[in-house]
Amino acid sequence: RAKARGRDRSERFDEEMRAEAMRLLDLEADLRRAIQRDAFEPHFQPIVRLADGVVVGHEALLRWKHELHGALPPSEFLRVCEDSGLIEQVDWLLYQRVVAWMGRHLEGYVSINVSPRHFHADDFAERLLRIIGDARVDPHRLRIEITEGALLDDAPRAARILNTLRAEGVLALLDDFGTGFSALSYLHRFPIQALKIDQSFIAGLSGETHAESLALVRAILALAGTLGIDTIGEGVETEHQRQLLTGLGCAYGQGYLFGRPVAQVEGRAPKARPAAVSARSR
Ligand code: C2E
Ligand code: MG
Ligand code: MG
Ligand code: MG
Repeated sequence: RAKARGRDRSERFDEEMRAEAMRLLDLEADLRRAIQRDAFEPHFQPIVRLADGVVVGHEALLRWKHELHGALPPSEFLRVCEDSGLIEQVDWLLYQRVVAWMGRHLEGYVSINVSPRHFHADDFAERLLRIIGDARVDPHRLRIEITEGALLDDAPRAARILNTLRAEGVLALLDDFGTGFSALSYLHRFPIQALKIDQSFIAGLSGETHAESLALVRAILALAGTLGIDTIGEGVETEHQRQLLTGLGCAYGQGYLFGRPVAQVEGRAPKARPAAVSARSR
């Protein structure tokens, strides 16, 4: 009986595996069609100076305009994009839209996300510089967001790519900082303009994990200060978190407190009034 039960279980497992594999294949086919239709669009979320709420830039976030499901966030499909290698095509479609849009609308900088594998693809830097040039956008207005993993994959190569981009004015932000290996000694080897402190630490500032998160955020800010690197707190949702971060010396922030990612910012980026932050959060 134990054997029979074991077989049932393994059959059920096989079935689930098969169903999951089918789902992923469907998703991949769906993605290929979406690439044909150019069905991706950037949503923009403001990045603000914490002290006064002035908008200094926006992060462009990938959304899939799905025929049935509306604007899908990356959590629904990024993994399949990366595993199938489709991410590069999707990213280029998105970056094209971002730079085209920058030419028409935004003030301040726009940061785009780059998957580690895509970052290390041949010609990444050259191709990015080319689409900026073609769109006649000032390269100083574009930044890239990469993760620690992308740097450590092949450090000398990563440094070369970043230096090529920086020479033309495209700066780099280190995304989700603190969640990777955070081998602090490597940081000074790369031209990084700012660390984006992962939202898990900001969320941790409230509640039981307060003391631990506070210590970690302090350590990150001290490190950045020593290296002369800017800091951006991610996932700032409450006025309390904003005040804590400001008090600790974090200069910039991003999160629902200041604005959600939206399909487009009407007209020019708003010149936030000094009182904007506290007024909105009350
Ligand atoms: P990320 O780069 O760390 O982006 C921040 C994520 O946090 C975004 O999720 C954003 O919508 C969300 N967020 C912003 N403020 C708050 C907040 O106050 N609270 C909470 N709970 N969340 C907040 P999203 O748009 O779903 O993107 C998820 C991830 O997908 C991104 O994380 C990035 O790693 C990746 N991604 C996004 N766009 C692209 C892209 O164009 N290309 C590539 N390769 N990856 C992308
Ligand atoms: Mg990002
Ligand atoms: Mg992040
Ligand atoms: Mg993230």
